[in-house]
Amino acid sequence: MKAIRVSEFGDPQVLKLEEVADLKPGAGQLVVRVRAVGVNPVDTYVRAGVYPRKPALPYTPGTDAAGTVLSVGSGVTRFQTGDRVYTATTLSGAYAEQALCDARLVFPLPAHVSFAQGAAMHIPYATAFRALFHRAHAEAAETVLIHGASGGVGIAAVQLARARGLYVVGSAGSDRGKQLARAEGAHQVLDHTSRNHFEEALAATEGHGYDVIIEMLANVNLGRDLGILAPRGRVVVVGSRGTVEINARDIMTRDGSVLAMSLWNATPEELRSIHAALIAGLENKSLRPVIGQEIPLADSARAHVAVMEPGAYGKIVLLT
Ligand code: NAP
Repeated sequence: MKAIRVSEFGDPQVLKLEEVADLKPGAGQLVVRVRAVGVNPVDTYVRAGVYPRKPALPYTPGTDAAGTVLSVGSGVTRFQTGDRVYTATTLSGAYAEQALCDARLVFPLPAHVSFAQGAAMHIPYATAFRALFHRAHAEAAETVLIHGASGGVGIAAVQLARARGLYVVGSAGSDRGKQLARAEGAHQVLDHTSRNHFEEALAATEGHGYDVIIEMLANVNLGRDLGILAPRGRVVVVGSRGTVEINARDIMTRDGSVLAMSLWNATPEELRSIHAALIAGLENKSLRPVIGQEIPLADSARAHVAVMEPGAYGKIVLLT
């Protein structure tokens, strides 16, 4: 089978398509014939060698795949060959025609959901769910700012928050990103490149401020987020690409909280609970992953450039 292999950390050109051995499942494992692969920003940090979690070289990147079950190991009773599935991490890497998985972290893909959409589920939707409901404990009727609503996690957060009954304000940096966030459920949208966007964000709540802010770029926004929090408001840092200065008095005066999360810290039990909720959302169609770009597996380097460019529009997926 073909797989992307990384033999040295570096720029996107280190992603090489190679012929490797077919995979065989052990006890409790299964092999997925991968049809689509989710490209996440973290894949680029790992490839560049700047992420705290460094795989042993050489490795195959990626965690999020969707396809059909190719073979099952002993003790696996939930799946049969041919079942449509998506993965919440893999043991062998997702950027490949086959992926070896712990069967407990593989989930059924409803018939109406495409493989590309299945590959958009794990990191984006599980992160958005955990940030909103496990960390911020967001409740219906609260007001949430999805700060970075046009990308993978942002669109997921907009759909999840809207389905739960929150008042949703989303931000994007392009007109098509704003249109997408609105179409997917944001009650109001803002441009985070506008000089006045924090004033506009506060005005969108009629001065009340935000009960919850889901923050995709904390190094740029966290200091000013604290000034638009409501009393007892919670910011959840999901993304950050540098350092930031804050005035702690802004949190203190509101009894506010700055929370943060990494999906890697979710236990297998938490992931199974999160994905049960996500599958229910796929089934009732409140969750509809949006695919902005489909790129062949062989062009993974192009996908790694694209995922770091501004003007996000849902997910970028690789097709095998
Ligand atoms: P993505 O699809 O590339 O989207 C990036 C988002 O950030 C877009 O909505 C983009 O908007 C927005 N953005 C750009 N400039 C911004 C600004 N000044 N203020 C607010 N938002 C801004 O990436 P993603 O998959 O959604 O992930 C978002 C971030 O979360 C990344 O940094 C990623 O590494 C991180 N992440 C963390 C976890 C975790 O476990 N903590 C999990 C998943 C992702 P425009 O392009 O429209 O400007």
